[in-house]
Amino acid sequence: MVSELTHFVHGKNVPGRTGRFGDVYDPNTGQVRARVPLADRAETEAVIADAAQAQVEWGSWSPQRRARVLLKFLQLVEPEREAIARALSAEHGKTVADAHGDLQRGLEVVEFAAGIPHLIKGEFTDNAGSGIDVHSLRQPLGVVAGITPFNFPAMIPLWKAAPALACGNAFILKPSERDPSVPLRLAELFHEAGLPPGVLNVVNGGKETVDTLLTDPRVAAVGFVGSTPIAEYVYSTATAHGKRAQCFGGAKNHMIVMPDADLDQVADALIGAGYGSAGERCMAISVAVPVGEETADALVAKLTERIAGLTVGASDDPDADFGPLVSRDALERVDSYVGLGVEEGAELVVDGRGHKVKGCEDGFFTGASLFDRVTPDMRVYQEEIFGPVLSVVRADDYEQALRLPSEHEYGNGVSIFTRDGDTARDFSQRVNTGMVGVNVPIPVPVAYHTFGGWKRSGFGDLNQHGPDSIRFYTRTKTVTSRWPSGVKEGAEFTIPVVR
Ligand code: NAD
Repeated sequence: MVSELTHFVHGKNVPGRTGRFGDVYDPNTGQVRARVPLADRAETEAVIADAAQAQVEWGSWSPQRRARVLLKFLQLVEPEREAIARALSAEHGKTVADAHGDLQRGLEVVEFAAGIPHLIKGEFTDNAGSGIDVHSLRQPLGVVAGITPFNFPAMIPLWKAAPALACGNAFILKPSERDPSVPLRLAELFHEAGLPPGVLNVVNGGKETVDTLLTDPRVAAVGFVGSTPIAEYVYSTATAHGKRAQCFGGAKNHMIVMPDADLDQVADALIGAGYGSAGERCMAISVAVPVGEETADALVAKLTERIAGLTVGASDDPDADFGPLVSRDALERVDSYVGLGVEEGAELVVDGRGHKVKGCEDGFFTGASLFDRVTPDMRVYQEEIFGPVLSVVRADDYEQALRLPSEHEYGNGVSIFTRDGDTARDFSQRVNTGMVGVNVPIPVPVAYHTFGGWKRSGFGDLNQHGPDSIRFYTRTKTVTSRWPSGVKEGAEFTIPVVR
């Protein structure tokens, strides 16, 4: 049975009014499981109006009272973890175990944001001039919006919602239309946790919905995560309309493998980071760069052996290492990139195309593919494939390996595997990329540090979560005060200076 999803506005599930819907698939079966309403401009404007009204009271709550709502939310999620993970897995196609990780990484940012009474404290200078004190305070922006991708339907909405709400903003979430059920459930739980109606609204939709959020003057800031062309569009449109924007885009993450690395450890790390979640992670490793022919030959042999042992199956199969891709379009795109790599002259060591899973013949499955001898002039190297395709680019030496991620147009994550501290340190210092792992394949920073890529992986100047998120979702007001003797002495006609 195909269910009909809703929006979540003013604390209630609200059916769509436009009569326009998007299909939400079960990627395991290839069947439509739900229809998601697509909001038009008028519907989205009503959601913004509701949020603007609700924000006034929410912004006046003490930070500690706001934190209590986040803490209660964490309690309410606890008994629902398994149900949320299963719902997430059924719409996205990642395994249930991986879906648990998606939720957990989001909850960690809620835990961070619950520290808001401390995080939002301003600065104070006593006696900045004679009888003058200066203090700065952080105030909420008002209504802020988050536009999120399909690939982390719990984590990324929570990365955006939790700090935005903790800072006293009303938050409007426009989740991916491909897997909106979990974001809707999370909004319901926030409401049950005591969030006043309208403070967190979820509006489903596509371009028209997004464009309304980007141009409406009542929206003060936009946080986006998705593909680079849309990130760039959202950034330029939002900023042209006077909004703050932070927009995170695509990636092509490299792993440098030095000859002194433990190659079994490297191969295990690459298999997990390259093929986990069917490669649909912005921090997936899609390029391995072994240094030296001997390292490369040994690495390709170890990868080939491990790929043969992988299980690609239904996302609720506990034995599956990874599940299907999110959509038929994604499947066709990934398979066509494998074909392109062959045309471009890369050596296809393992061809994952055409993988069938028994009982799920119409699912969006493709197996793990491995290319060797990929070169930087190939499109399979330059472009984000966003599927289970790992490319090996052989480097002659360390300097050549360092140049590859540094000169790539994307600069999200990168990692190096080595036993040499000096090489690791030099690499961390010099590589032109936002997040670096040293013997860590997927260096997603913990919640209290910040997450953000460089170059065409990120547009804007502040990162997600950690201290940057508090800066992004507040504006600083600085108060200079003097009591009251200066006034008694009469007006001053020269500019005040510190004496
Ligand atoms: P996407 O760009 O297709 O969609 C992201 C969001 O933008 C969705 O909510 C979608 O509805 C909306 N959107 C799509 N087309 C639009 C348009 N023309 N105008 C306005 N809004 C539009 O991305 P996706 O396929 O959902 O997600 C995968 C991409 O996200 C990959 O490129 C991946 O690397 C990237 N990603 C990046 C990060 C990061 O932190 N850098 C994290 C996760 C995913």
